[in-house]
Amino acid sequence: MKILVTGGLGFIGSHTVVELQNEGFEVVIIDDLSNSSMDVLEGITAITGVKPHFEQLDLKDRSKVEDFFATHKDIAGIIHFAASKAVGESVQNPLKYYENNINTLVYILKELGKLQQQNFIFSSSCTVYGQADELPITENAPVKPAESPYGNTKQIGEEIIRDTCKVNPELKGIALRYFNPIGAHPTAEIGELPKGVPQNLVPFITQTAMGLREQLSVFGDDYPTEDGTCVRDYIHVVDLAKAHVVALQRLLQGKNKSNYEVFNLGTGKGSSVLEAIQSFEKVSGQQLNYKIADRRAGDVIAAYADTDKANDVLGWRTELTLDDAMASAWKWEQKIRRK
Ligand code: NAD
Repeated sequence: MKILVTGGLGFIGSHTVVELQNEGFEVVIIDDLSNSSMDVLEGITAITGVKPHFEQLDLKDRSKVEDFFATHKDIAGIIHFAASKAVGESVQNPLKYYENNINTLVYILKELGKLQQQNFIFSSSCTVYGQADELPITENAPVKPAESPYGNTKQIGEEIIRDTCKVNPELKGIALRYFNPIGAHPTAEIGELPKGVPQNLVPFITQTAMGLREQLSVFGDDYPTEDGTCVRDYIHVVDLAKAHVVALQRLLQGKNKSNYEVFNLGTGKGSSVLEAIQSFEKVSGQQLNYKIADRRAGDVIAAYADTDKANDVLGWRTELTLDDAMASAWKWEQKIRRK
């Protein structure tokens, strides 16, 4: 069965391609390499022994998207990762984000509507919840006004899919709301490749330990949490990737309860920034140079998932720990810096 993975050379996409190939799916990747590189294709091939079909294509180019689908009418499902994802940049350049994250989604849904099999998985985010009133966060928690244009593209993206599903019963969509994906493949053949200064905690930790960054700043230690630092739900990217395969199989087997569904993907366990640092120090044997700094605007205090729906309805649960994720991220960081 042929599955299209957009953004399949990116961080989460590449790990998902590995899991799809492990399950015997034929994968076609579209990526414009705006935030990835061809080395990732080699990494996927090294892990699975199968080189996926790859097309370098900018999904903002509508006629190219149409041409692609005209020659791939046998696609059985699409997992749509391609998007721009830097929150800070989206504040500076909102139109780049609306164009890339919204236009590409609309073009793909239009083409998907012409296919025999219309199965669609969308990368959404726990940012849609903002600072939730209740923890852990269930899928029924209200969607809060977005803090950034990036966050807004995820909310609008979900609405676009939901509205399209309402008028097209052939279309089956699942939005997956990721909490905080971290880690790398245990083989260290693929992992996260942040460009410039990392925006996320774990690549900042590993780059600091590697000497690429002088010091890590922990933004705020006076939050109303156990140790005063922000709490997040860190999910190993391999567990996250496997959830995509399970969600896709649900659609392919017609097990979905309605033609638009939403699931949280997290571990269900909140970890503070200091706990994440301690985990890294434990598995790496390195002492991390960090300091406590002022709070950072826009950070929510605590967010972790209620995973009951994903566990019970999808039949998926995480298997890997924070320590596993930190160990894999550290192995990956050491590998890429040796190159
Ligand atoms: P990533 O940047 O590593 O991967 C995205 C890939 O899409 C990149 O390889 C990039 O080159 C490609 N791409 C971007 N625009 C494109 C276009 N116009 N045409 C073709 N390819 C294009 O990001 P990721 O961390 O793997 O995230 C994947 C998805 O998950 C994104 O939609 C992101 O918003 C979402 N998400 C990520 C996180 C996270 O923390 N990483 C959290 C929640 C949601």
